[in-house]
Amino acid sequence: MIDIKDLHKSYKTGATSLHVLKGINFNVKEGELVSIMGSSGSGKSTLLNILGMLDEADAGSYHLDNVPIKNLNEKIAAQYRNKFLGFIFQSFNLINYKTALDNVAMPLYYQGVSRGERLDRSMAYLEKVGLAPWARHLPNELSGGQKQRVAIARALASDPKVLLADEPTGALDTKTSYEVMDLIQGINDEGKTILVVTHEDDIAHMTKRIVNLKDGVIIDDSFVKQVRAKDHV
Ligand code: ADP
Ligand code: MG
Repeated sequence: MIDIKDLHKSYKTGATSLHVLKGINFNVKEGELVSIMGSSGSGKSTLLNILGMLDEADAGSYHLDNVPIKNLNEKIAAQYRNKFLGFIFQSFNLINYKTALDNVAMPLYYQGVSRGERLDRSMAYLEKVGLAPWARHLPNELSGGQKQRVAIARALASDPKVLLADEPTGALDTKTSYEVMDLIQGINDEGKTILVVTHEDDIAHMTKRIVNLKDGVIIDDSFVKQVRAKDHV
């Protein structure tokens, strides 16, 4: 599903250049639940942004579902993003003046799905994450965990091939974090390919494989025995 080879990325600011990703190789098969773990500044978000086609590498190759991702114009890139990828962020990134239901429906609008089907599908996904009763509420009427559930429903609504989550539990307390991980595990049990970026060891162990990033290099990549989040809620 994801195949990257010898990926490099530097950030240039004026005369200085910061080499952030230093030759990353890895691939992810359909149905995997993988965490990218590392301390702050190790390059996790940079890597995830490249995988999410929000940024481009300086060197190396990236194939997403066998499609080479390189030098795409913004229109094609947006089409691929919509078709292949769902995003979940630490800060939820919901639109504050839209209801939970309308937040979930937004990406479908940009995909040209008709209004009736948008609302039906969005409601079904809100049900899936346990938030149907909150459909007409605004984000500021929801708890952090509920907001993240809305964001997960939004990411799923377009049925992406891969879910990319950047510190999805980073703004949540421990109990709520495990509830969100339980939901993510359930979605993976149904077959969705998911990448979770985290700096937290216990969250990483709730995935099935941990890719350890340090100073822009993968120092370990191992399958682990998955800890079920619901046993810890
Ligand atoms: P992580 O997500 O693991 O905390 P990041 O990928 O966000 O790490 O950042 C890796 C390094 O790159 C850090 O030193 C950060 O300051 C730097 N960095 C990230 N984004 C930019 C940017 N847009 N411009 C310049 N430097 C950046
Ligand atoms: Mg980060």
